[in-house]
Amino acid sequence: MQRPRFPAQLPEAKNRASVAKPQQSTGPAPAKPRSSLAASGSLPAGLGLDSPALRSRMLQKLVAQGVSDPQVMAAMAAVERHRFVDTALVNQAYEDTSLPIGWGQTISKPNVVARMLELLRQAAAGKMGRVLEIGTGCGYQAAVLSHLASEVYSIERIRGLHKRARDNLRALRLPNVHLLFGDGMLGFAPGAPYAAIIAAAGGDAIPQAWIDQLAIGGRIVAPMSAGGAKQALVVIDKSAQGIRQSVLEPVQFVPLKSGLA
Ligand code: SAH
Repeated sequence: MQRPRFPAQLPEAKNRASVAKPQQSTGPAPAKPRSSLAASGSLPAGLGLDSPALRSRMLQKLVAQGVSDPQVMAAMAAVERHRFVDTALVNQAYEDTSLPIGWGQTISKPNVVARMLELLRQAAAGKMGRVLEIGTGCGYQAAVLSHLASEVYSIERIRGLHKRARDNLRALRLPNVHLLFGDGMLGFAPGAPYAAIIAAAGGDAIPQAWIDQLAIGGRIVAPMSAGGAKQALVVIDKSAQGIRQSVLEPVQFVPLKSGLA
């Protein structure tokens, strides 16, 4: 099994992923967090939010919606979702809703994140090994994943969002999260084989690169087109005998696009 070296020295060639470790800025002094929220770790006065209380209400709702994996619940409890949304949206950070994160993209609903992580973990006994996330977005799900996997490789095709995720995650100091700028449709071969692959954007089919980069015994959880504008959650399990695909409930994700932006 080949392990990538980090920090990886990859040229920022087109269609090739480049790696940024959120806690190790090679540039000037680390950028100041975008809002006083992130800087203080607490909420600004006047917003009337009690983050731990709201987060525990969010968790209660997840349980009511059928989330039962204690590890997933603990990971969701550990990550402050309000750190990942604009100050103007902080009031909605713990609602069960998707929220805009810029560049026309959205952070997924908490119950969708929890559901997908539960599905991902079902294939693994205990902590997952290396996990590849397609679509870093604001970095929220990567932060949750960091509590469930030994290493998280998260790839984003929009440079602005990749940078934003880096800023969001820097303060959290998660040494096992590796942010990549690149086209996730190609996967990220240097980190393969992956115990699990999770996508936050849906295409017409599961790219062959993901299946190739998945370890035997590993699982892919991803949205996929179910005809027309419809999408469904798809689970792919890889065994020595081949792959098995299950199509689950309808979902709504942003489109999986090729190339960089
Ligand atoms: N997990 C994210 C959700 C982001 S939305 C979060 O917690 O915020 C899905 C993201 O997938 C978008 O940012 C979009 O730009 C990205 N995306 C779409 N196609 C992609 C591709 N081929 N490679 C990498 N990222 C992609």
